[in-house]
Amino acid sequence: MSALVQLKRHVDRLKECRDCPQMIGPVVTGTPVMSPVMLIGQAPGVREGPAGKPFAWTAGKTMFGWFAQLGLSEEVFRRRVYMAAVCRCFPGKAKGGGDRVPSADEIARCSRHLAREVQLLRPRLVIPVGKLAIAQVMPDADQLVTVVGRPQRAGLAGVAFDVIALPHPSGASTWHRMEPGKTLLARALGEIAAHEAWRSLLEAEPRAGAAPAGAASAAPSRSRSSRSSRSEVPR
Ligand code: SF4
Repeated sequence: MSALVQLKRHVDRLKECRDCPQMIGPVVTGTPVMSPVMLIGQAPGVREGPAGKPFAWTAGKTMFGWFAQLGLSEEVFRRRVYMAAVCRCFPGKAKGGGDRVPSADEIARCSRHLAREVQLLRPRLVIPVGKLAIAQVMPDADQLVTVVGRPQRAGLAGVAFDVIALPHPSGASTWHRMEPGKTLLARALGEIAAHEAWRSLLEAEPRAGAAPAGAASAAPSRSRSSRSSRSEVPR
Protein backbone atom coordinates (compact mmCIF):
# COMPACT_ATOMS: atom_id res chain seq x y z
CA MET A 1 0.00 0.00 0.00
CA SER A 2 1.44 3.41 -0.93
CA ALA A 3 2.26 5.95 1.75
CA LEU A 4 -0.40 8.27 0.31
CA VAL A 5 -3.10 5.61 0.65
CA GLN A 6 -1.94 4.95 4.21
CA LEU A 7 -2.03 8.68 4.94
CA LYS A 8 -5.56 9.00 3.56
CA ARG A 9 -6.68 6.06 5.69
CA HIS A 10 -4.99 7.62 8.69
CA VAL A 11 -6.86 10.90 8.15
CA ASP A 12 -10.16 9.03 7.71
CA ARG A 13 -9.57 7.24 11.03
CA LEU A 14 -8.44 10.46 12.71
CA LYS A 15 -11.73 12.13 11.76
CA GLU A 16 -13.56 9.46 13.76
CA CYS A 17 -11.46 9.97 16.92
CA ARG A 18 -13.52 10.77 20.04
CA ASP A 19 -10.93 9.91 22.66
CA CYS A 20 -11.01 13.17 24.65
CA PRO A 21 -14.26 13.73 26.57
CA GLN A 22 -13.64 17.46 27.10
CA MET A 23 -12.69 18.24 23.51
CA ILE A 24 -15.28 19.66 21.16
CA GLY A 25 -15.53 18.12 17.70
CA PRO A 26 -15.38 17.85 14.83
CA VAL A 27 -11.80 16.72 14.32
CA VAL A 28 -10.09 19.30 12.10
CA THR A 29 -7.56 18.02 9.55
CA GLY A 30 -5.67 19.35 6.57
CA THR A 31 -5.43 17.79 3.13
CA PRO A 32 -3.73 14.37 3.13
CA VAL A 33 -0.78 15.20 0.90
CA MET A 34 2.63 13.54 0.77
CA SER A 35 4.70 16.63 1.38
CA PRO A 36 8.33 17.15 2.42
CA VAL A 37 7.07 20.01 4.61
CA MET A 38 4.83 19.58 7.65
CA LEU A 39 3.24 22.43 9.55
CA ILE A 40 2.23 21.78 13.16
CA GLY A 41 -0.40 24.09 14.59
CA GLN A 42 -1.63 24.11 18.19
CA ALA A 43 -5.35 23.32 18.28
CA PRO A 44 -8.30 24.54 16.23
CA GLY A 45 -10.32 27.48 17.46
CA VAL A 46 -14.09 27.78 17.50
CA ARG A 47 -14.25 28.69 13.79
CA GLU A 48 -12.15 25.89 12.34
CA GLY A 49 -14.56 23.00 13.04
CA PRO A 50 -17.47 24.56 11.10
CA ALA A 51 -15.06 25.65 8.34
CA GLY A 52 -13.62 22.12 8.14
CA LYS A 53 -10.00 23.21 7.85
CA PRO A 54 -7.18 24.42 10.12
CA PHE A 55 -6.24 28.11 10.35
CA ALA A 56 -9.55 29.12 8.79
CA TRP A 57 -9.94 32.48 10.52
CA THR A 58 -7.93 35.61 11.40
CA ALA A 59 -4.74 33.87 12.65
CA GLY A 60 -4.77 31.90 9.41
CA LYS A 61 -5.09 35.08 7.39
CA THR A 62 -1.93 36.42 9.04
CA MET A 63 -0.04 33.14 8.71
CA PHE A 64 -0.95 32.57 5.07
CA GLY A 65 0.11 36.17 4.42
CA TRP A 66 3.57 35.21 5.70
CA PHE A 67 3.73 32.19 3.40
CA ALA A 68 2.39 34.16 0.42
CA GLN A 69 5.51 36.35 0.75
CA LEU A 70 7.50 33.13 0.23
CA GLY A 71 5.68 32.17 -2.95
CA LEU A 72 2.77 29.97 -1.82
CA SER A 73 -0.76 31.32 -1.71
CA GLU A 74 -3.13 29.91 0.92
CA GLU A 75 -4.81 27.69 -1.65
CA VAL A 76 -1.54 26.25 -2.91
CA PHE A 77 -0.11 25.93 0.61
CA ARG A 78 -3.12 23.87 1.72
CA ARG A 79 -2.63 21.64 -1.31
CA ARG A 80 1.13 21.15 -0.96
CA VAL A 81 1.93 21.25 2.76
CA TYR A 82 0.69 18.68 5.28
CA MET A 83 -1.04 20.58 8.10
CA ALA A 84 -0.94 18.74 11.43
CA ALA A 85 -1.57 20.03 14.96
CA VAL A 86 -0.84 19.27 18.58
CA CYS A 87 -4.56 18.62 19.15
CA ARG A 88 -7.14 18.28 16.37
CA CYS A 89 -10.27 19.25 18.28
CA PHE A 90 -11.40 22.57 19.76
CA PRO A 91 -10.54 22.57 23.49
CA GLY A 92 -13.30 25.05 24.39
CA LYS A 93 -12.91 28.37 26.13
CA ALA A 94 -10.88 29.09 29.25
CA LYS A 95 -12.33 31.22 32.06
CA GLY A 96 -10.44 34.26 30.79
CA GLY A 97 -12.19 34.04 27.43
CA GLY A 98 -9.29 32.69 25.38
CA ASP A 99 -9.09 29.12 24.14
CA ARG A 100 -8.41 26.50 26.83
CA VAL A 101 -4.95 24.94 26.74
CA PRO A 102 -5.26 21.21 26.09
CA SER A 103 -4.30 19.11 29.11
CA ALA A 104 -1.13 17.03 29.15
CA ASP A 105 -3.31 13.91 28.74
CA GLU A 106 -5.08 15.35 25.72
CA ILE A 107 -1.78 16.34 24.15
CA ALA A 108 -0.32 12.89 24.81
CA ARG A 109 -3.43 11.21 23.37
CA CYS A 110 -3.41 13.29 20.21
CA SER A 111 0.36 13.00 19.79
CA ARG A 112 -0.03 9.45 18.51
CA HIS A 113 -1.76 10.87 15.43
CA LEU A 114 1.13 13.28 14.91
CA ALA A 115 3.68 10.50 15.38
CA ARG A 116 1.94 8.37 12.74
CA GLU A 117 1.94 11.28 10.29
CA VAL A 118 5.63 11.96 10.84
CA GLN A 119 6.40 8.29 10.21
CA LEU A 120 4.36 8.24 7.00
CA LEU A 121 5.57 11.57 5.62
CA ARG A 122 9.17 11.56 6.88
CA PRO A 123 9.23 15.35 6.41
CA ARG A 124 12.49 17.15 5.67
CA LEU A 125 11.20 20.39 7.17
CA VAL A 126 8.80 20.82 10.09
CA ILE A 127 7.31 24.24 10.88
CA PRO A 128 5.80 24.35 14.38
CA VAL A 129 3.61 27.40 14.91
CA GLY A 130 3.30 28.69 18.47
CA LYS A 131 4.76 27.57 21.79
CA LEU A 132 2.62 24.48 22.24
CA ALA A 133 3.59 23.18 18.79
CA ILE A 134 7.25 24.10 19.26
CA ALA A 135 7.28 22.09 22.50
CA GLN A 136 6.31 18.95 20.58
CA VAL A 137 9.53 18.93 18.57
CA MET A 138 11.80 20.98 20.85
CA PRO A 139 10.77 20.10 24.41
CA ASP A 140 13.66 22.09 25.88
CA ALA A 141 12.73 25.37 24.18
CA ASP A 142 11.44 27.72 26.83
CA GLN A 143 11.17 31.06 25.03
CA LEU A 144 10.30 32.09 21.49
CA VAL A 145 13.41 34.30 21.30
CA THR A 146 15.64 31.25 21.67
CA VAL A 147 14.09 29.28 18.80
CA VAL A 148 12.39 31.56 16.25
CA GLY A 149 14.82 32.40 13.44
CA ARG A 150 17.23 29.67 14.57
CA PRO A 151 16.79 26.51 12.49
CA GLN A 152 17.51 23.32 14.38
CA ARG A 153 17.64 19.60 13.84
CA ALA A 154 15.08 17.64 15.83
CA GLY A 155 13.28 14.35 15.81
CA LEU A 156 9.92 12.80 16.54
CA ALA A 157 8.76 9.19 16.42
CA GLY A 158 12.17 8.06 15.19
CA VAL A 159 12.30 10.50 12.27
CA ALA A 160 14.80 13.38 12.10
CA PHE A 161 14.08 16.66 10.31
CA ASP A 162 14.94 20.34 10.22
CA VAL A 163 12.77 22.61 12.34
CA ILE A 164 12.08 26.27 11.65
CA ALA A 165 9.76 27.56 14.35
CA LEU A 166 7.27 30.39 13.94
CA PRO A 167 5.39 32.41 16.55
CA HIS A 168 1.64 32.02 16.69
CA PRO A 169 -0.02 34.50 14.31
CA SER A 170 -2.90 35.16 16.70
CA GLY A 171 -4.18 38.70 16.82
CA ALA A 172 -4.05 38.34 20.62
CA SER A 173 -0.25 38.14 20.44
CA THR A 174 1.94 41.16 19.90
CA TRP A 175 5.18 39.14 19.94
CA HIS A 176 5.63 39.00 16.17
CA ARG A 177 4.75 42.66 15.71
CA MET A 178 7.31 44.04 18.18
CA GLU A 179 11.09 43.74 18.44
CA PRO A 180 12.86 41.40 18.71
CA GLY A 181 9.95 39.25 17.46
CA LYS A 182 9.56 41.20 14.22
CA THR A 183 13.20 40.67 13.22
CA LEU A 184 13.22 37.03 14.36
CA LEU A 185 10.04 36.29 12.40
CA ALA A 186 11.57 37.83 9.26
CA ARG A 187 14.69 35.72 9.82
CA ALA A 188 12.60 32.54 10.25
CA LEU A 189 10.65 33.24 7.06
CA GLY A 190 13.94 33.78 5.22
CA GLU A 191 15.19 30.42 6.50
CA ILE A 192 12.01 28.71 5.30
CA ALA A 193 12.30 30.35 1.87
CA ALA A 194 15.89 29.11 1.55
CA HIS A 195 15.19 25.54 2.70
CA GLU A 196 15.43 22.99 -0.08
CA ALA A 197 12.19 21.26 0.96
CA TRP A 198 10.28 24.54 0.71
CA ARG A 199 11.90 25.36 -2.62
CA SER A 200 10.84 21.95 -3.93
CA LEU A 201 7.22 22.93 -3.19
CA LEU A 202 7.53 25.95 -5.44
CA GLU A 203 8.71 23.85 -8.35
CA ALA A 204 5.91 21.35 -8.88
CA GLU A 205 2.84 19.71 -7.46
CA PRO A 206 3.83 16.68 -5.35
CA ARG A 207 3.34 13.49 -7.33
CA ALA A 208 0.40 11.48 -6.00
CA GLY A 209 1.69 8.65 -3.86
CA ALA A 210 5.33 9.65 -4.26
CA ALA A 211 7.51 9.26 -1.21
CA PRO A 212 9.28 12.48 -0.27
CA ALA A 213 12.72 12.50 -1.83
CA GLY A 214 15.73 12.20 0.49
CA ALA A 215 13.76 10.81 3.40
CA ALA A 216 15.14 11.93 6.73
CA SER A 217 17.33 9.62 8.78
CA ALA A 218 16.22 7.99 11.99
CA ALA A 219 16.58 9.79 15.28
CA PRO A 220 15.52 9.06 18.84
CA SER A 221 11.97 10.02 19.77
CA ARG A 222 11.51 13.12 21.86
CA SER A 223 9.32 13.11 24.89
CA ARG A 224 6.11 15.11 24.72
CA SER A 225 5.81 18.32 26.61
CA SER A 226 3.70 18.33 29.71
CA ARG A 227 4.17 21.98 30.43
CA SER A 228 0.65 23.01 29.52
CA SER A 229 -1.75 24.18 32.17
CA ARG A 230 -5.40 24.99 32.25
CA SER A 231 -5.00 28.59 31.20
CA GLU A 232 -5.24 30.19 27.79
CA VAL A 233 -3.33 28.79 24.85
CA PRO A 234 0.24 30.17 24.78
CA ARG A 235 0.91 32.14 21.59
S1 SF4 B 1 -7.96 16.02 20.44
FE1 SF4 B 1 -7.00 14.39 19.21
S2 SF4 B 1 -7.02 12.54 20.53
FE2 SF4 B 1 -8.48 14.03 21.38
S3 SF4 B 1 -10.49 13.50 20.47
FE3 SF4 B 1 -9.57 15.11 19.16
S4 SF4 B 1 -8.46 13.94 17.58
FE4 SF4 B 1 -8.88 12.49 19.24
